[in-house]
Amino acid sequence: MAANIQAPKGTRDILPKDSGAWQLVEDIMRDEASVHGFEEIRTPVFERTELFERSVGDTTDVVQKEMYTFLDKGNRSISLRPEGTAGVVRAVLEHALMNDGAPQKLYYLIPCYRYENTQEGRQREFHQFGCEAFGAAAPVADAALIALAHSIFERLGIRNLSLEINSIGCPKCRGEYHAALKAFLEASKGELCGTCLTRLEKNPMRILDCKTPSCGEITQNAPVMKDYLCSECAEHFTAVQEYLDAAEIAYTVNPRIVRGLDYYTRTVFEFISNDLGAQSTVCGGGRYDGLVKQMGGAQTPALGFAMGMERLLLVMQAQNITLPRPPVCELYIAPLGRQAQVKAFAFTNLLHQAGIKAECDLCDRSLKAQMKYADKIGAVFTMVLGDEELKQNCAELKHMQTGEKTSISLGEGFLTEFVAVATQTEDNAAMGLDGLTVDFEGFEIFEKED
Ligand SMILES: [Zn+2]
Ligand SMILES: [Zn+2]
Repeated sequence: MAANIQAPKGTRDILPKDSGAWQLVEDIMRDEASVHGFEEIRTPVFERTELFERSVGDTTDVVQKEMYTFLDKGNRSISLRPEGTAGVVRAVLEHALMNDGAPQKLYYLIPCYRYENTQEGRQREFHQFGCEAFGAAAPVADAALIALAHSIFERLGIRNLSLEINSIGCPKCRGEYHAALKAFLEASKGELCGTCLTRLEKNPMRILDCKTPSCGEITQNAPVMKDYLCSECAEHFTAVQEYLDAAEIAYTVNPRIVRGLDYYTRTVFEFISNDLGAQSTVCGGGRYDGLVKQMGGAQTPALGFAMGMERLLLVMQAQNITLPRPPVCELYIAPLGRQAQVKAFAFTNLLHQAGIKAECDLCDRSLKAQMKYADKIGAVFTMVLGDEELKQNCAELKHMQTGEKTSISLGEGFLTEFVAVATQTEDNAAMGLDGLTVDFEGFEIFEKED
């Protein structure tokens, strides 16, 4: 294929055959967020680079290696957002949203950008659904966020996810832990991978979730944060677990869950799937009580999570989950001859005004070719308009799945009669919903390897 018509490496088009599934998943996310009292926020795709350096943290891989950073024509350093939280925090501060009362509960569905190694099944443009709550310090808020993510997975029908939680303490108690962890790791410094060697000084806790086997072995008996939590952090963590128990949400405490970004405090959590070969995190989040202040705002407790859409869809695909999909076309009108074409167009227009998905021939095709097309788009009903039908002022509605035919007037009663037949059918065939599901077969989430 000519290089100039290929999408850039690490990006992919979401084609109509797949976009229906994306929309269904997004609809469930929006609906569930709204049920939980979250409202949507939309922030720019790019921000000043400094925003990510200050929030995500300049010791992280994300900021050091993976950001799409460039100078704009005014010589400002700009970066495409590598994640959603930083922009939301910036917007909350800029528009003083906390003046409208606490908590502020926000969600977003956005593309993000990281210069990643695409061989590892990662996209450079990927999509995230995220929720953030500002101004909620109580441990019940941690449980409420986890419950929201949990209920989204339930509604999507995703099974076998394990929820793993941990507390990484606060700046007060983490210092002592870092010192203990560093002292422990110093002994086996020589066996750490290159990345962890640099983490040892600036962010030793990240060594705990390094995927290199040798690092995993070294940290097997490393001291755990849980034993170093100050009394406030320990109380908070115990309470979070009480709330999760009360909501009957199963979880495991895993001291290796530390999250990759610098801004987390206290509760961190991940929902992990084993359905994609190796373990993979489909949702990660936690508390970041210090971030808003660090970004120039007043001290504001906050927490949030994000889930990667691509990975979530892969898990759904691996679990053979099917989702009901509304039909693309409820009525296809097949005209024969010029006069019928005009009438078909007029009817289609009328149906559109009533919110009914209708189509007529746009290609001057034969009846056979038209019916083939109607079948291909999964039209629920078809109706042929020829000379005879126009003369009788009456046509036959054919339900494509059952083959059942109903006579319908082409006069003033057309719309009412069509709606009556369609609604009646809806009871048993649900407008074609029964047989129409997104089965993810042939569904493409990642670009094909060259
Ligand atoms: Zn603490
Ligand atoms: Zn390592």
